[in-house]
Amino acid sequence: MEIKNTHLIDRYKRNLNYLRISITDRCNLRCLYCRPSGAGYKLKHREILRYEEILRITRIGIRLGISKIRITGGEPLVRKDCCEFLGALTRLRGLNDISLTTNGVLLTDYIDPIAAAGIKRLNISLDTLDRNKYKEITGVDAFERVWQGIEAARTKGIDPIKINVVALNGINDDELTDLAALSFQYPFHIRFIEYMPIGHTRLCDKAPLLYPQIRSRLERLGELLPVARAPHDGPAMRYKFKGAIGEIGFISAVSRHFCNECNRLRLTADGRIRPCLLADIHEDIKTPLRAGRLDTELADVFFRAVKRKPFQHPVKLDPNAINGEMVRIGG
Ligand code: SAM
Repeated sequence: MEIKNTHLIDRYKRNLNYLRISITDRCNLRCLYCRPSGAGYKLKHREILRYEEILRITRIGIRLGISKIRITGGEPLVRKDCCEFLGALTRLRGLNDISLTTNGVLLTDYIDPIAAAGIKRLNISLDTLDRNKYKEITGVDAFERVWQGIEAARTKGIDPIKINVVALNGINDDELTDLAALSFQYPFHIRFIEYMPIGHTRLCDKAPLLYPQIRSRLERLGELLPVARAPHDGPAMRYKFKGAIGEIGFISAVSRHFCNECNRLRLTADGRIRPCLLADIHEDIKTPLRAGRLDTELADVFFRAVKRKPFQHPVKLDPNAINGEMVRIGG
């Protein structure tokens, strides 16, 4: 039986057309806020979806109205043959936006194949401009490599380059203005993300730095002028300083959630469709896929996940609501 071209509309009339795919739970960094403290469990090879399995799920998603994909992880570039997979993804018909989120450590090695695969937009995570602090946050002395990766991406014409900064109270809060000031010198979009309590990370006990506080610090640099929203904009509130060539964004998932306009589903590295980043709800698509089920049956897994998408994530009400691990779900 054929899947009829249709849309994934949830109970609250949101059209879910954006799939974020985590291709691995492995990462070459051990960020304070991302890895659960102490937990060393890694998915076994057979537990992780193979590329051809991800492509089949994506093709089904496209027939259900998915038009936008982001590849994330773990660190996607540590997975073997990631760029070949990106190429296969960009050759699929029906997608109009494919992007990649990376920590940038391996970017200088892979920027050519990434660009050749047809990826035009990158999000790169960088929480500090200080080499020692980078090591403190990530556990690895790789600041220079990441910066060279960012430069390599710029030289290659990747545009926009979005720099993701998680605002961490007592850790990088003294640097938020320095990071924002990059937007005067570079055409980057510097996006400040509220720390989200997912799983038990080593940061759970600190008071989070929320959007109003982050914003008031940045305003020391000048007035933040709103930027008009574009069609593929995510939840970031976009601004610009007068005279800057880059932009500033705020992603306030905790203090001012954007659930009412959320258009996302996630496919985890171990093959579950997760309708909300911040709620422990998922539907297993790997088991029916590996049991040889039809596309229509796999489409039903999408529909079941969509049906369970909550109206609003529970984090503000209950910061301990999520047991999952960011490194496996994909941010
Ligand atoms: N390894 C890639 C990277 O570092 O960009 C992709 C995966 S990472 C999980 C995706 C994004 O999630 C990163 O920008 C990271 O900073 C962000 N992130 C991870 N844990 C977070 C948390 N607890 N709160 C807010 N953002 C988080």
